[in-house]
Amino acid sequence: MEVTGTVQRQAWAAGVLPPVEEVRPGLWSVPVPIPDSPLRYVLSYVLRAPGGVVVVDAGYDDDEAWSHLEAGLTQIGHGVADVRGIVVTHMHPDHYGLAPRLRRASGAWLAMHPADAELITQRSAVEVDAYVEAARTQMADSGAPAALFEGAGQYPIEFLEPGNGPDRLLVHDDVLDLGSQRLRVVHTPGHTPGHICLVDEDRDLVLTGDHVLPRISPNISILPDQLENPLGEYLGSLEAIGALDPSEVLPGHEYRFRGLPQRTRDLIHHHEERLAEVMAAVTGTPGLTTYEITLRLQWSRPIADQVGFLQRMAVNETLAHLVLLEERGNLHRSEGAPTRWFPGSVSVRGASSMVGGRSGA
Ligand SMILES: [Zn+2]
Ligand SMILES: [Zn+2]
Repeated sequence: MEVTGTVQRQAWAAGVLPPVEEVRPGLWSVPVPIPDSPLRYVLSYVLRAPGGVVVVDAGYDDDEAWSHLEAGLTQIGHGVADVRGIVVTHMHPDHYGLAPRLRRASGAWLAMHPADAELITQRSAVEVDAYVEAARTQMADSGAPAALFEGAGQYPIEFLEPGNGPDRLLVHDDVLDLGSQRLRVVHTPGHTPGHICLVDEDRDLVLTGDHVLPRISPNISILPDQLENPLGEYLGSLEAIGALDPSEVLPGHEYRFRGLPQRTRDLIHHHEERLAEVMAAVTGTPGLTTYEITLRLQWSRPIADQVGFLQRMAVNETLAHLVLLEERGNLHRSEGAPTRWFPGSVSVRGASSMVGGRSGA
């Protein structure tokens, strides 16, 4: 992997916001800050289109982000009123957040994948309470202490207001025709159910959103209203996008790079190592809860010292690995709550005898 966004990486190292850059003629990257986030900024991409511009990913919904987006548009000779369309790679608040405000201010259309559109309209309507309840139940079922599941389910929904759904749906292989530029949609489920990447075949570029980032591995978690086996889907989506080897990758955070096949292989390897670590924990001590397994894994900082939100993310990420191992037939779960994990794929009868006997095989 080779970093091509060298100015962006210098800015990253210096802890400052990178500049607006013209990546190709008529295609700019505009960093939009994210408040209180280690990711620091999202990279919005602005593309020249008939009658104005199209924005890919809008940034987090707050006033400082908005003024950076506005200033970025001004810097490239446009204004908010020139925005004709908004494409959102996925429904997370750092990518989708400002999209409704930008649509209101410009009259632009808003486009995203139906799977993420559904999450937005569901969570913004009557199902919020049900979602929070399901998230709490999932956290309780992981064996986490009560303090941890009290706040579960509350963070991702505050930005979703009724009526914020998209005007256009984009599915796999759709082509967005922006006159002089065309973007092909590649559905890459995993990070969210409806995550998309955008391929500019004419100029040999891929916009990867959060699916592939140069430095960090995106969060892949089990959430109550999302994919049943998100890590399985994510690994499949990595193989699919890793078959492309564009001249440059334009990610949603950090900096541009080249070497998509190598980066996707590294991410797959990272998860296979993590799967082995999870498997070793279960084999070493059969019958652990998801929370107990989470505590036994290596994290960049001690997980028990983290704030509740980060602990819940870690638990849900661990659960994603457990579910994939279960899917592969490497382990199985007990019945009843909290869920306990045991090595080996077992038939229903075998499972009950192993759980009952706690043989520790
Ligand atoms: Zn994301
Ligand atoms: Zn993001």
